[in-house]
Amino acid sequence: MGSRRGTVVLDLVRALLARPQAREPNTTIAHQTIVFHRSRGEANRTARYQADQFIHEGRDDLAGTLRPFMSSFTAIERREILDDLRDGSCLGVFATSALELGIDIGDLSAAIILGTPHSRPSYRQMAGRVGRRSPAIVVYVPRDNPLDNWYADERRFASHLATAEPEPVITDPENDDVAMLHLAAAAKELDINCRTDETFFGERLKERLRILDEAGDIQEHKKGLFYWSSADDPFVRINVLAAKGTHTVEIRRMEDRQVIGQVDNWSALWMLFPGAIYEDGIWDTYVVESLHLGPLDQRHGHSEVERVAWVRRATTSQTKYYTVALTERNVAVVDEKKVIGRNVGSLKVHRGPVKVTQTLADHYFRVRRAEPGAAGLPKQRKKMPLRKWPTAVGPDGECDFRSIEMESAGLWFPIPTAVWEAVKERAQRPPRASIPGEATPDERAMSALHAAEHLICRMTGVVPGIWEGDIAGLSVDSHPAFSDGPGIFVHENTPGGTGLIDLLMEGDNLGNVIRAALERVENCPNHCENGCPRCIQDWLCGNQNFFLDKEDGRLLLQDLVRRAG
Ligand SMILES: [Zn+2]
Ligand SMILES: [Zn+2]
Repeated sequence: MGSRRGTVVLDLVRALLARPQAREPNTTIAHQTIVFHRSRGEANRTARYQADQFIHEGRDDLAGTLRPFMSSFTAIERREILDDLRDGSCLGVFATSALELGIDIGDLSAAIILGTPHSRPSYRQMAGRVGRRSPAIVVYVPRDNPLDNWYADERRFASHLATAEPEPVITDPENDDVAMLHLAAAAKELDINCRTDETFFGERLKERLRILDEAGDIQEHKKGLFYWSSADDPFVRINVLAAKGTHTVEIRRMEDRQVIGQVDNWSALWMLFPGAIYEDGIWDTYVVESLHLGPLDQRHGHSEVERVAWVRRATTSQTKYYTVALTERNVAVVDEKKVIGRNVGSLKVHRGPVKVTQTLADHYFRVRRAEPGAAGLPKQRKKMPLRKWPTAVGPDGECDFRSIEMESAGLWFPIPTAVWEAVKERAQRPPRASIPGEATPDERAMSALHAAEHLICRMTGVVPGIWEGDIAGLSVDSHPAFSDGPGIFVHENTPGGTGLIDLLMEGDNLGNVIRAALERVENCPNHCENGCPRCIQDWLCGNQNFFLDKEDGRLLLQDLVRRAG
């Protein structure tokens, strides 16, 4: 079943695109189909694999009608795909949520939704892409992860997704990262009134105006009225170190300097590191030669320096692979004064501002793509050393650049001493197959904690209003926040935070998440022995799911559920 699931979407697409005609079984007619994916890489890879498969079957005509659609494409490419969709020359489009809202693609006849949508309205947006004029097909395909399989239960699918009221929209007007940006951009458009505009820019408007004033960005030209006076464009002046997706990095072909795509600077570090393979649609593959992330701080000049990833065409053998960045993450509590504690049952949980540092490891994975006709998707991956680092321009000129810092909101709780003692005792038993034989008892104890952390982070998606992709976590054996004992951090992936952690701290939400985590590991649909992507493995894991112990993770979660009341 495990390997079979990987091809469900492909089987569906083939059935929809090459449907035999009732009267003439040797000819086919097509349902124009859209497949929604959770990530760019996933959309591109399904599109490529499907095209390869059609060519393998002698259906080059169908292969030529498939297109991926994603935000990294140039505006011209995106317009072309939309035209092809409307005039029917594109029969199958493989998209991310970039194609969800506000784009007219006409009326298609089938939608495949791969994985849990960001929200209930998002589900309806996707499903609403089809069937406006005539009956259509919508298929939800749970991916191999615990949250999707939780939703795959028919009753939960109906009551929590398909027919449920839209979730409350969570936002935080006091998020400095967002508020300062909007304030700067607004000041360039219109005067800001420091007395009356608090409604739009939060209670700390005066303080924020003072910061911009001191930086020489705005001036008070009448009492209480401020206007943008800097020559800089406020839209492009965010520190790459402290913000996510604030600048655009161009992807340029070395042969002719042509721009073939663009991506935000945050994604660029993980997608376009030197040596990475960049898949540009179905037919073109490139290898990244170098990545230049531009000035670290716009205010220190250098604005003429380009943000660019230079790519060259991949050789035939390179096109058989894709690459996955490996990252390391650290979390630190930044402002003790803002930390608030609360008991969830007998678990002592804290929330507060955290600094998250994500660093590119000195290795990455090269993974072989599936060959057409092969059953399932291959798991061959090779660890490759990073030979060159991305660069950025700091105060002393160009430098190696390998990490991004952001401040966000987090919650954390220590593992109670008695619970951890039990984990350590279990870790003394003879090793099982899932854990490398040479693992020490300490590493095995951490494998249990790592598994529990994965499930807790992913199952935050059971709380209405939380998209689990906006949440990440870290398990540590020792950290100052836990008086140098073990514990779990759960944090938002958005700079400044958007209120999701507050929501998790409300009522019984965190308790529900921990209970859902235990329920998933106890009821993995694969009935796996050592853990699989449908229970403890996590698609966002920075170290690619090394050191995970399903059974000990389950026992730890059992203890945590008891403590959480
Ligand atoms: Zn499993
Ligand atoms: Zn992990």
